[in-house]
Amino acid sequence: MNEPMPRGPVVFRARVVTMDPERPEAEAFAVDRGRIVAVGAADDVARSVPGARVEDLEGVVLPGLIDAHLHMERGGLKALTFLAPGAGVDEFIQTMHDTFDEEDDWPAGTTPTLADRVRGLGVVQPLLHALGITGVVDPAVTIDEMRGYQEAHRLGALTMRTVAMPYLEFGSVATPDLAAVLAHLDGTGVSTGFGDDILRLGPIKVYADGEALKGQALLDTPWDGSGYTGLQRISEDDFGTLVRFCAERGWGVGTHAVGAGAIAFVTRAYAAAGGAVRDRRFQLIHAYLEPGSATMRSAAELGVIASLQPSIIWHNGVGLREKIGARAETANPVRSWLDAGATVAFGSDGPYFAFDPRHLMWQAITRRVAGSDVPLAASEAITIDEALGAYTTGAAYASLAENDRGVLRAGMYADWALWSADPRTVPVDDIRSLRVHRTDVGGRTVHRSTS
Ligand SMILES: [Zn+2]
Repeated sequence: MNEPMPRGPVVFRARVVTMDPERPEAEAFAVDRGRIVAVGAADDVARSVPGARVEDLEGVVLPGLIDAHLHMERGGLKALTFLAPGAGVDEFIQTMHDTFDEEDDWPAGTTPTLADRVRGLGVVQPLLHALGITGVVDPAVTIDEMRGYQEAHRLGALTMRTVAMPYLEFGSVATPDLAAVLAHLDGTGVSTGFGDDILRLGPIKVYADGEALKGQALLDTPWDGSGYTGLQRISEDDFGTLVRFCAERGWGVGTHAVGAGAIAFVTRAYAAAGGAVRDRRFQLIHAYLEPGSATMRSAAELGVIASLQPSIIWHNGVGLREKIGARAETANPVRSWLDAGATVAFGSDGPYFAFDPRHLMWQAITRRVAGSDVPLAASEAITIDEALGAYTTGAAYASLAENDRGVLRAGMYADWALWSADPRTVPVDDIRSLRVHRTDVGGRTVHRSTS
């Protein structure tokens, strides 16, 4: 599947959507040694790389998409367990949908070996590349998963640019309490940003509250008449200590915070991290139930990334209506997060939640939810350009890679995908049926199809 790197420069002629505000569209781009070396009018690009091979592409080229919240290695194991060998991307999407309620990625009672992990990555990466995805942020990487990624990288088998967010579970054998987590983080001297352009350490992952459909999101307004506001999974004191420690030692923090109460206390604690918030890409993860407008503004001013997943509200919308009635209508307020000035990074929480970016962009535009003909409030809808931005420039920023990825511009990596049509101009319902004909990562073709 992975083709060798082409020798010498190549000029690609195509309709190009760059996501670069300085030059949103182009007729051609040139690639040499894995990087884009020119973008612009076809003649100008050809002149800038004399002697280059010229290739005409039928379709529309977009920057490679980055899923800012995808459990890729677990997805690989899950694919090995449930997906028929040789299955294509449509079957992959269907199988992951059908196995949503399966608790285990891997047959219960057995443990995947390092070789299994690498093999799983070998299955899942091409399927994700077939959706135009060239990078992921894996939002909760255990020690075993980190070993899997490192081994795949060592073997040259990591084709997806991967940012790994270490997850040190409070109460686990390795890290029973906060002191153990801090000692562990301090143990090797590395921190957020360490790695290379294929495999890099992201912020650590922490949980502030629980899941919305279990009634565990920590809200300001109680869930019901009982006065219960949700589950706080770490005390504000402990969380503050963790944030200050991380800021001093170069670690970013990405915190699962679903409800208003959690989003607010996490934002307050982040304020103590100063410039580290931007430098180390602190995130609010999910952040989709009733965040206060003052909180959103303050998070945006601090430079906190809103890491949002249209898939979760797609899946949970109807259940939330049953639980909290009309309060559900403004859930996943992507519009408000953007208007507050936050950098929004889109992801999926796949392969558990729906992870097809065509479907997720469509959801964020239409506000449709599974199992209902009635969309959520249109006041929180965004445009296709904003959805693409969240999957490219926004997610590249969350990947510490805004100078290398997310837009097609000279100097950036040649991470791009060839789509059957321009998602910005097709009727919105057609976004879901667009096809990705080809995907390149660093100038190397990692997906090619004619269907
Ligand atoms: Zn997740």
